[in-house]
Amino acid sequence: MLKLYNTLSRKKEAFEPIGKGRGKTVKLYTCGPTTYGPAHIGNLRTYVFEDVLRRWLEHGHGWKVKQVMNITDIEDKILAASKAKTLDDVRAFTKPHEERFFADVDKLGIERAEAYPKATEHVGAMIKLIERIQAAGFAYERDGSVYFDVRKYHRKHHYGKLLKIDSKHFGGEKGSRIDADEYDKDSPRDFALWKREPKGTVGVVGWRSPWGHGRPGWHVECSAMAAALKLPLDIHAGAVDLTFPHHENEIAQTRAGDGQDLARFWLHAEHLLIDGAKMAKSDGNIVTLAEVEKQGFLPVHLRTLFVQAHYRGKLNFTWQSLQAAKESYERLQTFYDRLSEQAGDAPEGGEAVTKLIADTQARFAAAMDDDLNTAEAVAAVFDFVRDGNALIDAGELGTDRQEDVLEALHGFNDVLGVLTLEVERAPKRVNALADDREAARRRDDFAEADRLRKQISKAGWTVEDTPRGPRLRKR
Ligand SMILES: [Zn+2]
Repeated sequence: MLKLYNTLSRKKEAFEPIGKGRGKTVKLYTCGPTTYGPAHIGNLRTYVFEDVLRRWLEHGHGWKVKQVMNITDIEDKILAASKAKTLDDVRAFTKPHEERFFADVDKLGIERAEAYPKATEHVGAMIKLIERIQAAGFAYERDGSVYFDVRKYHRKHHYGKLLKIDSKHFGGEKGSRIDADEYDKDSPRDFALWKREPKGTVGVVGWRSPWGHGRPGWHVECSAMAAALKLPLDIHAGAVDLTFPHHENEIAQTRAGDGQDLARFWLHAEHLLIDGAKMAKSDGNIVTLAEVEKQGFLPVHLRTLFVQAHYRGKLNFTWQSLQAAKESYERLQTFYDRLSEQAGDAPEGGEAVTKLIADTQARFAAAMDDDLNTAEAVAAVFDFVRDGNALIDAGELGTDRQEDVLEALHGFNDVLGVLTLEVERAPKRVNALADDREAARRRDDFAEADRLRKQISKAGWTVEDTPRGPRLRKR
């Protein structure tokens, strides 16, 4: 049984999708990128976590997943950075950032969501939602802007479901002032659903609305787009720093405008720290995937680093920790490559292999079902690699059983996504050189063997002598 930590209850709860029968669909909404700059690896950690979640729902439980991830392509930061005058200007500015986001996603082996709606293409749905919230009495207009009335909402529905904030904080006359310098609000706690075009900037990017020319607030974007999945969602996921106010406001908007819960489960991924500090663009300490690659690492090394930690724990990124993850990846990949090669005749029995596979699968599944404990699941896989290597070295893993082990490894990788499955095969010419070299070694002609090894090396391959004979690896 799958248990997931639900931020709403602050507990691990048993998870099943809504709906009946086999092939149930999990409706998953994940907050997506704001396309005004490259994602940093802290953002990427969240996306990898959401990908592992998705893969476990699919491969571990056989459910279908319908995931929606929004693309925030209209926002104050975008308008400021692009100096856009028209929507076309905005699109020209955001497009390369969006392309880069998808390139990062693909490099990290993140499965594509079923839909990536863009904010600029769904302003109509946002306006309609704001109208419903207003009609229900939980929003008010001030001079062309529309605000959510937190106090009024709180009296009826309770604001602060995710954070468990003391109710008097939001219900009383006096509360702490949140962004108090924003204009025209009745209360500093209220947040903008619709922002009127700033005075003196007629002609900037905006949309016509019942309240005049303006643009939607960020929070309303997610409530409007998530509703495309038919509420309530099974799972809403995102980074922990979105819990408040963003997710709290999403819950309030959907309850106020549509009279229902936005999601049953709220999952939050912890921060990625860099050298012990929070990664933030404003602090100038962000690392991007491009930088990781520039330092000679592969995206899969980063993915390995991420899955080695539990998503609810802070993870401290250092270049040394990435180097260690790279070594882990290589250990796993070497085992995979070894298994993909031709083995000898199958020995009789093989009880040890059967037990090893079954025990590892059980341990892996138990770890993943325990709130996606990938740290423990990865540990199970590495024990499997160690024991599997020992069986190969002892000559106790023949062709038949080797396929079983390989299949089990594929099963783990379907969830973790940390193997490079295309094993590079050496061309015939290089294989022939390797055969000649082996023959030379057998007749103790080491000078010839060495000459052939150098030739193999020149062709871009390395020959390694293993207990089961020579093996070629791409250099
Ligand atoms: Zn969101």
